[in-house]
Amino acid sequence: MPNTWHLGLIGHPLGHSLSPVLHQAALAEAGLVGDYALFPIPPLPEGQPALLETLQRMRQGELQGLNVTIPHKQSVLPLVDELTPSAKAIGAVNTLIHHSGRLIGHNTDAPGFLADVSQLPLRKSKTALLLGAGGAARAVVYALLSQGWKIFMTDLNPDQASSLYQHFATQEVESANLTVIADTPQEIHQASSQVILIVNATPAGMHPLVNETPWPEGVALPSGACLYDLVYNPAETRLLQSAKAAGLPCRNGLGMLMEQAALSFESWTGFNPSRSRMWDEVVKTNPSLAGGTR
Ligand code: NAP
Repeated sequence: MPNTWHLGLIGHPLGHSLSPVLHQAALAEAGLVGDYALFPIPPLPEGQPALLETLQRMRQGELQGLNVTIPHKQSVLPLVDELTPSAKAIGAVNTLIHHSGRLIGHNTDAPGFLADVSQLPLRKSKTALLLGAGGAARAVVYALLSQGWKIFMTDLNPDQASSLYQHFATQEVESANLTVIADTPQEIHQASSQVILIVNATPAGMHPLVNETPWPEGVALPSGACLYDLVYNPAETRLLQSAKAAGLPCRNGLGMLMEQAALSFESWTGFNPSRSRMWDEVVKTNPSLAGGTR
């Protein structure tokens, strides 16, 4: 075990990242000496030299753990020595683990999502409607399919939705349970009558797009469903407010963010940090994130 843990995050931009607060809380709770640094690396090709150098520092043991965020979750795929089955199936890495000079690409977004969504009072029939088919949606799809869910998925951009579908058609998951629907009020209305969970994996509602909602005007939110909104800033998006007003149990994405961080931390140090301690630290430094879903 190292005397000092050097951890960090690769991505761009990183100005508002909550990861340092989360991981410093975990280091303190574990009684470990260490730091969590930000490595702002621009997108490729500009960021290629800095990305390679940072990964090399980790291979040499200077860094013991790295998280990876936009725009590098996919860029690091060909640069690691091994992928865990979840990182391979999702096609994205959010955690780099150092093992005997080798870099292992892992993904804790999917188990992080599952751990947090399970806090909702979900009914038994496992059918979900997923809004958005970008990077975060891939982790959600993998998580739900691997737990036997059926998913209706839509995106403003039909090419994005079909590319996600094609990706999972080649993976070892039950891709027959994934159905792409058009981003129209009619199709969303029809699908929503069958689901017990709606997941927002679009940036609609996220700061600064606070006036946007991915839910079509004039379509009622299905009573009996729950809402999971991956956005956590603001704590309550327009969609989450509407769902709350319609009586749907709701949760925003702050819990998923904390879970993925805690699982990354555990994969590096073996210590399983307390979520409530992480939560306290986040809301102490960012009081506006203390929303009504926790
Ligand atoms: P992304 O790769 O840009 O994908 C978002 C997708 O949603 C794009 O395909 C986009 O289409 C589509 N979209 C945008 N507005 C839409 C709308 N109104 N209706 C339907 N589809 C729409 O983004 P991402 O990385 O997946 O992130 C998505 C959201 O999840 C962000 O708000 C992010 O902060 C959040 N997130 C949260 C966590 C967490 O731990 N809580 C983790 C990861 C991401 P276009 O490309 O055509 O715009």
